[in-house]
Amino acid sequence: MPKTSIIAIDGPAGSGKSTVAKEVAKRLNFLYIDTGAMYRALTLKALNKKIDFSDTETLVKLSGNTDIELVDEGGSLKVFLDKKDVSEAIRTIEVTKEVKRLSPLKEVRANMVELQRKLARVASSGVVLEGRDIGTVVFPDAPHKFYLDASCETRIKRRFEELKEKGFSISFKEIAEDVKERDASDMTRKIGPLKKAEDATVIDTTDMTVAGVVDGILKIIKSGR
Ligand code: C5P
Repeated sequence: MPKTSIIAIDGPAGSGKSTVAKEVAKRLNFLYIDTGAMYRALTLKALNKKIDFSDTETLVKLSGNTDIELVDEGGSLKVFLDKKDVSEAIRTIEVTKEVKRLSPLKEVRANMVELQRKLARVASSGVVLEGRDIGTVVFPDAPHKFYLDASCETRIKRRFEELKEKGFSISFKEIAEDVKERDASDMTRKIGPLKKAEDATVIDTTDMTVAGVVDGILKIIKSGR
């Protein structure tokens, strides 16, 4: 495999892509780039600064003036926003709900895509990037592309379990609404919508274990398909 191999993993919320991407990166000793964390970090900054989400100009400026770093600390990904560790803060329900207000903006996406490409370019190893538009926009020439999916019910259940485990008190109904709204927004926006790249391998993770998905991906990569 070439040293600078790029593995693109896209899919909707709850499809299992974060867990899978992290593990694939670990097994290959590749850098893991969680692009959703970047949109989340920017959303957190906008919330902290009490920026009106309809003020596109200010949001665009913010996206060009924000320092977002992803750092691997002993196998866990830490997210730094303007040098401050926000790894936990970007996972709150509020940030999750508001991220769709900012992620459709063309110039915001352009700034995020540029940052993602830069991070991948300077990596000394291969890179696993996960998000919504990796195989279609960020790295359309990536040699390995995967699109993870799962039934809507399964994805909602996974998100529910994940948030419950983190101690958030939120109802199943609220999670279902958030997942559906985010899916709709991510899939229908004009710039960088969530869609399967033509040459991506689709994996339906509904009835699969994480290990099963990871092994499947590694097998495909190693076979050079
Ligand atoms: O992956 P995660 O669920 O953390 O992403 C949060 C949100 O960030 C998504 O719902 C989407 O609106 C946005 N996002 C995006 N493009 C990416 C990654 C995430 O628009 N490449």
